Amino acid sequence: MNGREQLLVAESEIGLAIIALGSLNPTDLDVHPIESEDDEARLEQHSTLKALWADRRRQIGGTKIADAEPHIRSAEQAAVRALNFLEDHALGEAAHEAVHRAAQLRRGLLGCPIEFRDDAYWTTCPFSLAHIRVGFSAGITGSFVCSVCEKPMEDCDHLPGTTYDHVKRGGDGSCNVCHESNCEHTDGETYAATATPVGVAFSAHEVSMVPRPMYPQARFGEIEVTDDLDFEARALAQAGRLHCDECLGPCEGLLDARTWASRVGLPIA
Ligand SMILES: [Zn+2]
Ligand SMILES: [Zn+2]
Ligand SMILES: [Zn+2]
Ligand SMILES: [Zn+2]
Repeated sequence: MNGREQLLVAESEIGLAIIALGSLNPTDLDVHPIESEDDEARLEQHSTLKALWADRRRQIGGTKIADAEPHIRSAEQAAVRALNFLEDHALGEAAHEAVHRAAQLRRGLLGCPIEFRDDAYWTTCPFSLAHIRVGFSAGITGSFVCSVCEKPMEDCDHLPGTTYDHVKRGGDGSCNVCHESNCEHTDGETYAATATPVGVAFSAHEVSMVPRPMYPQARFGEIEVTDDLDFEARALAQAGRLHCDECLGPCEGLLDARTWASRVGLPIA
């Protein structure tokens, strides 16, 4: 699925969640402005929204929330994927807004637990992770062989793009004429085939963090919470009752990979 399709999935899953919940309006998920650099205004917004959602949770009830949960989670996942595909595209802002809408619903009704583990605090908040625009890329090595003679490209005399007579060989594995596993070619017959480089023995090495990964969905699944947590917050987290509020928005904007890396002291490619 591409970014546009993911965006449609996000909106339709939000719609299905709202139907399952019965008493919410789609506009209940819009928080404006979606970005703000005013820390105090953000915190104020968080406490207003937390109270509002506590009321809504009571009104809606656990059964309906449980019915809506799969739609809420897939809406947010699709919105994040859409943003990963579309961040440099005209629809990037629409995807960013969809992340906010879906996260609002998820945080409001399902929470966003911060986990205490290995002497550290961890979050898997899809909203927070989506705002850090960094991904992984793997350096890849491999070699190409000739599709006609199956020797390394540099050791054969076949010219890529030129057609040669090719005898279909029997045996297991893919067809040596067309490189498909299920085809019409008959063993022992001669076919005309074009010499092309075929990639073999590819392996990934040396994973690095980059602003725009080749596979847009290759991203963090969890990060350490680096904010200073006060005594009360630490106690709540250790009891499994601390929640992330960031996903109630507004955000500080999308954080580019380099700014993020210099904040946390990690190298970026
Ligand atoms: Zn060859
Ligand atoms: Zn074939
Ligand atoms: Zn969160
Ligand atoms: Zn945002």
